[in-house]
Amino acid sequence: MSTNELQDLLNNNKRWAAQTEDDTPGFFSRLLKQQTPQYLWIGCADSRVPANELVDLLPGELFVHRNVANVVVHSDLNCLSVMQFAVDELKVRHIIIVGHSNCGGVRAALQDLRVGLVDNWLRHVQDVRNHHQDWLEQLPQDQRVNALCELNVLEQARNACQTTVVQDAWARGQSVTVHGWVYGLHNGLLKDLSVSAAHADDVTPAYRRALAALHQRYEAARGAGPASTAVPTAAQGSASTSPQG
Ligand SMILES: [Zn+2]
Repeated sequence: MSTNELQDLLNNNKRWAAQTEDDTPGFFSRLLKQQTPQYLWIGCADSRVPANELVDLLPGELFVHRNVANVVVHSDLNCLSVMQFAVDELKVRHIIIVGHSNCGGVRAALQDLRVGLVDNWLRHVQDVRNHHQDWLEQLPQDQRVNALCELNVLEQARNACQTTVVQDAWARGQSVTVHGWVYGLHNGLLKDLSVSAAHADDVTPAYRRALAALHQRYEAARGAGPASTAVPTAAQGSASTSPQG
């Protein structure tokens, strides 16, 4: 990237800051004093899935953690630290795990593609694939990536529920709800996978209901035949081999 291209970014930033302050006088001085986001977004690092823009929230309104394929691992101090700060200090009321259709990380995991160091990270998504392998193999090839994107959201949402951060918050009566969404790259829409859990007792029933609903959607689409244009999910888009996130 040339210096000129970076200069464009800095110029864009100046314009944006001036416009924001113009639209809402005192915007930055108010943000300086505090941030009070209600939501923690845990999403994919993919450049096509920018958290704030998708839900039309301003700086200060969304606490964000992103990694390749929106994975929540119990030993990942980075993600756990973000969750702990968001829940204990900022008192966010919602944690949203957000996957997206045609995720390159999920595709690499599904198809055993060798990409590099990231293969080790994607082992976590391969664990999800292996857990659901029998069901995935019944699907037409072109539906498996998006199906695994959604299964991955359910599993990562369940992982988030099982962290000490969320378990401790629930034990002390703090209101935190964990959700799982998937974003459709082809239409810009977010879909709630209905795996929401607000108490420790909710986690397993919510996971089972969401999994059954996911199975039903894909099986109904498959039953409609290969020539059908039936779309099992808002997240299903055109096939892409993009290497992004
Ligand atoms: Zn992705």
